[in-house]
Amino acid sequence: MTAQVHHLIGGEYTPGTGEHLIAVTNPANNQPIAQLRSATQTEINQAVAAAKQAQQSWKEVAVSERARVMLRYQHLLKEHHDELATLLSQETGKTFEDAKGDVWRGIEVVEQAANIASMMMGETVENVARGIDTYSYIQPLGVCVGITPFNFPAMIPLWMFPMAIACGNGFVLKPSEQDPLTPMRLAELFEQAGAPKGLLNVVHGDRTVVDPLLTHPDVNTISFVGSVPVGQHIYKTGTDHMKRVQAFAGAKNHMVIMPDADKQTVINQLVGASVGAAGQRCMAISVAVFVGQTKAWIDEVAAEVAKVRPGLWDDPDAGYGPLINPQAKARVLELIESGKQQGARCLVDGSDFTLPGHEAGNWVGPTVFAGVTPEMRIYQEEIFGPVLSCVEVATLSEAIALVNANPFGNGTSIFTNSGAAARKYQHEIEVGQVGINIPIPVPLPFFSFTGWKNSFYGDLHAYGKQAVRFYTETKTVTARWPESGIVEGQNMTITLK
Ligand code: NAD
Repeated sequence: MTAQVHHLIGGEYTPGTGEHLIAVTNPANNQPIAQLRSATQTEINQAVAAAKQAQQSWKEVAVSERARVMLRYQHLLKEHHDELATLLSQETGKTFEDAKGDVWRGIEVVEQAANIASMMMGETVENVARGIDTYSYIQPLGVCVGITPFNFPAMIPLWMFPMAIACGNGFVLKPSEQDPLTPMRLAELFEQAGAPKGLLNVVHGDRTVVDPLLTHPDVNTISFVGSVPVGQHIYKTGTDHMKRVQAFAGAKNHMVIMPDADKQTVINQLVGASVGAAGQRCMAISVAVFVGQTKAWIDEVAAEVAKVRPGLWDDPDAGYGPLINPQAKARVLELIESGKQQGARCLVDGSDFTLPGHEAGNWVGPTVFAGVTPEMRIYQEEIFGPVLSCVEVATLSEAIALVNANPFGNGTSIFTNSGAAARKYQHEIEVGQVGINIPIPVPLPFFSFTGWKNSFYGDLHAYGKQAVRFYTETKTVTARWPESGIVEGQNMTITLK
């Protein structure tokens, strides 16, 4: 018997009544480990109504008490770190250490949410006119929705609901139907931390659960992380229905390698950044741009990548696990084939890899292409697999032009020992997150996660100060308290007198 995934609606755990059943499988063998019933329209409405009702009293709770819930939550998450990582590994196939990192990067956002009071400070100016002061408050919006992808089932839900709720909102989370067990455990621990019932609701299912949330009249904001076509659909539909939307989408991240970089550092950093987590990271390096004579390093990079062995989540020697599902594996294999057909040189070919004893899993071995050019599909499309494409250019300016011509703008990095080259790159590159001798520059939560171009639709990004702006509204008060109690004379103009 497989476990039943429950929805969390108004503080009650329920399997739901939906007739659309979805299996949650172990990607290492594709055996079912749980199943869920996609939430019905009634259940979705109940979740939004519960969040709306709970928010009415939550917004009156002192900001320091809201922060204390986050402190207790942070403590509980740390206490359950290994347990969460084990669950996460089982439903995603991630290695245990990588799964721990997924949870940890979420815990860091909860720590930031515990700082909420200082982030919700408004502005004041005394005497904007004689005896008149103006000050602003930051107030919560109401009901916020989060729709999350499969690839970070702890970190990405934790990007969203702790910040939204710390700001004083209610929340409805719709996690990926492919790995809902970790987000559910996160929700249970949130209740244990003292969050009032109904404040955080979790409804499960696929796209059929998303659309009613995008159009629901009581939903104020939508946070989405996932693929480009779905991100565009979410942004268009949500904004069409007058919601505030932030939609984080796909990526194609380049690492630029300068001739003055340290070769061994480049190789060490590139291996994990490209094929780590089976390449299923939105900040994975999928393109390495070799500048000038560094093209001579490509064979050594390929030789190191070739040594990485996929394996089971609890194998300490495994470099990464399987892809999330058979469709993802088929898509990656098809793209590898297209690279060969379009004339790229396949230096390391992982298409035939399988893990002995676990042949039914979604395994793809590490793969490296050289001689990749921008017209090739492996350059143009997000592969989301353990595939590194190597491109050669003559100069830094050519590298910058290449990266800037790419429609994605999530992350990029440059490896160099030249301050001048690094400065030129950080200044001229049209990408939202830049690493200098750092391959995956995901900002810590006192900053925000700032993808650009087709990697992000919206204005205000995830976590940090931008998340506070996203999940709140500003109210500006202009006040006069005349000492005499009387304001003399009439004012027929728009000026403050
Ligand atoms: P996905 O777009 O398939 O699914 C994301 C969420 O949207 C899931 O909850 C899913 O149920 C829902 N969904 C799927 N199809 C839908 C539809 N037609 N209408 C409405 N909702 C729908 O993404 P995924 O495969 O789970 O995740 C991988 C993608 O996420 C990659 O493209 C990756 O780059 C991207 N990603 C981006 C970031 C970022 O910060 N930019 C971070 C992580 C992942």
